[in-house]
Order: sequence, then structure tokens, then C-alpha cells
Amino acid sequence: GDTVTVADLAQKLALKGGEVVKALFKMGVMATINQSIDHDTAVLVTEELGHKAVRASSDDAEDALLALVDNDQGEAQARPPVVTIMGHVDHGKTSLLDYIRRTKVANGEAGGITQHIGAYHVETPKGVISFLDTPGHAAFTSMRARGAKLTDVVVVVVAADDGVMPQTKEAIQHARAANAPIVVAINKIDKSSADPMRVKNELLSEQVVAEDFGGDVQMIEISAKTGQGIDDLLDAISLQAEVLELKAVSEGRAAGVVIESSLDKGRGPVATVLVQSGTLKKGDYLVCGVQYGRVRALFDETGAQPDQAGPSIPVQVLGLSGVPDAGDDFVVVEDERLAKEVAQQREVKRRESRLVASAGSRMEDIMAQL
Ligand code: GDP
Ligand code: MG
Repeated sequence: GDTVTVADLAQKLALKGGEVVKALFKMGVMATINQSIDHDTAVLVTEELGHKAVRASSDDAEDALLALVDNDQGEAQARPPVVTIMGHVDHGKTSLLDYIRRTKVANGEAGGITQHIGAYHVETPKGVISFLDTPGHAAFTSMRARGAKLTDVVVVVVAADDGVMPQTKEAIQHARAANAPIVVAINKIDKSSADPMRVKNELLSEQVVAEDFGGDVQMIEISAKTGQGIDDLLDAISLQAEVLELKAVSEGRAAGVVIESSLDKGRGPVATVLVQSGTLKKGDYLVCGVQYGRVRALFDETGAQPDQAGPSIPVQVLGLSGVPDAGDDFVVVEDERLAKEVAQQREVKRRESRLVASAGSRMEDIMAQL
């Protein structure tokens, strides 16, 4: 019948050759990496490696999943920065995101009409930059609370005619808490009342020190209305990213985070995910929070359907069993069975922890009445 080399099988399972050899040895089959094994042996050892944990106790599928992810091999390569824009209300966050999207997102199949999918990426002369386009600080905070480290660089927008305001300070705190460097965009520079020097002075009081004040924070004067300075801002972001030496493995199974999700009447559950490592492909099986599924289609911000998405690239995913939460992680797994198993175990765990939490608060109520 059919045969397969141990090396090929290992690659299919995203495992090291040595681990398959070891598993075969345990089954009493002596084989080196370059030897071929027959079909039945291949099925047995595959089950031994990939599915063994699925039938064991409830924690093990997750362990098997993590082991699979850990086993991904490949050299880390430079990846694009992921940027969040923050700042006080009406200082021009939406205008800035819209301007960059309108002028820099490559026109796709859909005739140049960009889609709002919660994030987008642009090509600049200095490389690709991804922007998270989630509404406001709340989304950022909730994702951070869920442990998702998404943002490499925070652009703090400050209106040149208004200066540092409460939410400007909040944005600075968020960036610091996330350990993400700040680039300041001094916006509305087209206005006659613009006073960029005042903005720099006020930021100095927040220990955000401009380069021309002897500090290391790039501050770029822009207008989200006329487009003045936007290219300089993109250059500044690229420069900041270079310093960070951002890297990710782009080969192998993808893993990342959900940025936005919804239930679409026609298309079912849709989730915009940010790939953080590996490459997400059409047809992949994945676990996504407590949901699972097979990638039926990928959409980018131009409405085009790419076959795959690599590190730092946001992409909309169709084909999930349900709507995941923003901030949920996702990971590609070998087959649907494992995907379903892990998702169901997570669901059980989530329900259990909710029960424990509500039992706890009921107990508190009872205690309070005593
Ligand atoms: P957000 O609340 O931070 O998202 O701010 P918006 O992008 O909604 O902008 C608030 C207002 O400022 C809107 O009326 C914009 O048209 C205006 N605005 C934004 N950027 C500029 C700019 O660079 N110049 C001028 N003159 N107006 C701007
Ligand atoms: Mg806005």
C-alpha cells in the first residue's frame, strides 16, 4: 500500500522528525527520519501523536494543542508594526485613520472601495504598517485586560488648537502600561489657532519629551484634513518600528488575536483577526476562543479575498461555528476533530468558572444577610 517517509509525516503534523521517531519506537517500530513507513503504521503513530490527548482527561487536548504550536519551526523574520491611534475626543483620530485608509490602502478587487473590518494595512516606501481601527480606548482596554498584546506603537493624536486634555493623558498611560512607544501626531496644523509649541510644552509635563526638546519622542505636525505631514508620520512610525526590531515566524500554522467580530445575516459569524505568527490560509482548521471552524474565506480591507495572511496582517475570517469575542486568541490545528474538542473543552471550562463566580457571589449575599 501507500508509504510515507517519517520526515514527510512529521512535517504534515508540524512536529520534529525526532518526535515521530520516538513515538514509533514506543510502538515497537524502528525507523529513521528518512525511512518510509506503511499507511497503517502512519495512521497509528498519527493518532498516537495527534489524537491521543483528545481521548484522555479534559485538560489534555489543550496541552496537545500547545505542544503542536510550540513545535512550529522556522526562523523569525522582520514583521510590520501594528499601530493603535489614541487621543482626546474630537482631536482627529477617526479623521486620521480615514485619511490614511483613503489615500494609502491598495485598491483591491472591489473597485477601490475600502471595507471597515476593524483594521487595515498600508504599504509605504518604508514598508507595511498595520492600523487597528477599533472604536476608542474601551476596546483597547478590554483586549489588554484579556491579556492580548496587540499594539507595537501608539500614535497619540493631539489637536494643535486644543492641547493636552484628559484623554490625551489616558492615552499616554495606556501606551506606557502596554509598554508600547509613543509617536505624537500634532493634528489640525492647518488651523490658524494651531500652536504646536504649546502642545510640546504640555506634553513635557507628562514626561513625553520631543526630540527637539532633548527627548526621544517623535512629534510630527499633521493635518488629517489636508494630508499635510501624513507621509512624515508614516515614516516616523516605520523608524520607531525599526528600533523595536519586530520579528515573527511566518511559516507554519497561524496564531493570533480576534480584533472584532459579528454575526452577519448572510455570511454567518465573521471575525477580523490579527495574525501574530505563522500564516493563516483558506481551508485551515482553527480554534478561536470557544469557537472552532474551517476557514471558508478570507477578506481583506479592500474586499479582496487573499488566499493567506502572514504576521501583523489583519484579515476577516468566515467559517466559524459561532461569534468569538474581541481579544480571544485563535490557533490553527491539524483537523476539525481537535479544533472541536479544544473549543468544547474551553466552553465547559468557561461555564464552570462562571458557575463558580456566581456561586461565590450568591454565597456573599447569604453571608451579608446573616
Ligand atoms: P475623533 O473624536 O478623535 O475621532 O475626532 P474626529 O476625527 O471625529 O474629528 C473631530 C473634528 O475635527 C471633525 O469635525 C473633523 O473634521 C475635524 N478635524 C479632524 N482633523 C482635522 C484637521 O487636521 N484639521 C481641521 N481643520 N479639522 C480637523
Ligand atoms: Mg472618532
